[in-house]
Amino acid sequence: MYFKVKPSHRYIKVEAEGVEGNVTFPVWLPGSYILRELERNVVQIEGYRISKNKFNVREKFSYKVYAMSNDQREAVSTSDYLFINGPAVFPFQLFDEEYCVEFSLPEGWKLHTTLKERGGAYCADSYHELADSSFQASPYLKEYEIDEGHSISTIDELNDDLIERVRKVVKDEDKIINSVNHSITSHKYLFYFRFSTLPKGGIEHRDSSSIVASWNADVNSLTTLFAHEYFHRLNVKYLKPKDLELNYEKESYTTLLWFAEGVTDYIAYKSSWTSKAIPISEFLKRIASAIYPLTFNGGEMSLSESSLTTWIKYYRRDENFPNSAVSYYDGGLLMGLLIDLSLFKAGSKIEDIFKEIPREYTFQDLEEVFTGYNVDLTLANRPSREIVEALKDFISVELTDKGKPFLGLIMDGDTVAFVEDGSPADLCGLCPNDKIVSVNGKASDLIAKMDSKELSLTISREGRLKELKLKIGQSPGHKVKISHKDVSKAWAGTDFSFEFDSKVM
Ligand SMILES: [Zn+2]
Repeated sequence: MYFKVKPSHRYIKVEAEGVEGNVTFPVWLPGSYILRELERNVVQIEGYRISKNKFNVREKFSYKVYAMSNDQREAVSTSDYLFINGPAVFPFQLFDEEYCVEFSLPEGWKLHTTLKERGGAYCADSYHELADSSFQASPYLKEYEIDEGHSISTIDELNDDLIERVRKVVKDEDKIINSVNHSITSHKYLFYFRFSTLPKGGIEHRDSSSIVASWNADVNSLTTLFAHEYFHRLNVKYLKPKDLELNYEKESYTTLLWFAEGVTDYIAYKSSWTSKAIPISEFLKRIASAIYPLTFNGGEMSLSESSLTTWIKYYRRDENFPNSAVSYYDGGLLMGLLIDLSLFKAGSKIEDIFKEIPREYTFQDLEEVFTGYNVDLTLANRPSREIVEALKDFISVELTDKGKPFLGLIMDGDTVAFVEDGSPADLCGLCPNDKIVSVNGKASDLIAKMDSKELSLTISREGRLKELKLKIGQSPGHKVKISHKDVSKAWAGTDFSFEFDSKVM
């Protein structure tokens, strides 16, 4: 298919050419496990609607999409900026044909993409390649060179410190990637980057990734986000779970997102630390922060279950998530640590095992790779808190607030944000979104400072005032302190200790 793109304020107009018949707009896009219903942005199309995302069209047809998503996985078009992630704007007919995109941009605009230019258009050999590509354009666009093979495309000013850190991790991760296959790094790689009012996030492609981060994101977390997206060049884009299919119209189920995402996050943090792009304290903070959610009831969920349910749980997290589910990023990162420490004990390291993994791997393939290293991968199929127990062979894990006075609440100002199952807050009848009006006749912000055995609360629930008695109990333990044991001291090359504070009162 051939697309002529004319961006305008808030909308993108497209003149398309294919064959007479049906076109399909994607319902989801690779790298993000939620049905985004991208066809929702089509506001005009020359054609007959067949279903929510299919249209019958002539050989040539035009359409218009609303483009005001600041999400790096979708599209935005303003008077001075354009960003398109392929599937957010372009429909498909046959997968295995050429897809070309030609842009009609105002004078003075620059455009960056990793697609090859062919006769004035940017072309992909298949829809999969187009769906794995992005476009960024603006009169303010610039390119920061990281090194010969890697650049950052952005409209913002970046400081040298960040670029130097990204240079270190890219160089370090390239060693792992090249140990698998040199051809993976033979293409030029582009990071599309933009500061935003959104929290930080990224999406991976084969030759690029798109990252947004809040203006006040600290440089350590920014570095590890670049490291995470970059390592997907190997883990997800080259090696991938066999059951992770590219069907753009329905969920693709895999039990292995803990390896694809969580182990990627482990490598991102480890590589950032070992290449001296971040201090060890940031690496330890990430480990402790990954153990923290497993101290809640959600730690009963296995990582394979967490992977399968991402479409309805992780990508649709609600306030009850810690009571009922666990993140495959957190649990998978801990599996990465467990694998790495087990391998270290056997004289190897996690960086060395990727070359043993088949390009399309199953759980059994991974088990075979780890045979002989004394790593129990079936932990991924059991309650994920058992991973923490297994880690205790290598590192000391203490819950320093265990038995301390406890309510089982996370507050957001004067509003209840989270109620832990079975906690005093739960037993007294508090619900998320309850607004605490007063505690023992005093202002609600004193709740953390109360030292009586029982608190008299006045709350507002949907505007109705209620009186509740909250008995202070004992914490099951959520403050995670990790420190070295002999084997992990040797692995880290130093003794270490880190305590991660809990938000639960
Ligand atoms: Zn990822």
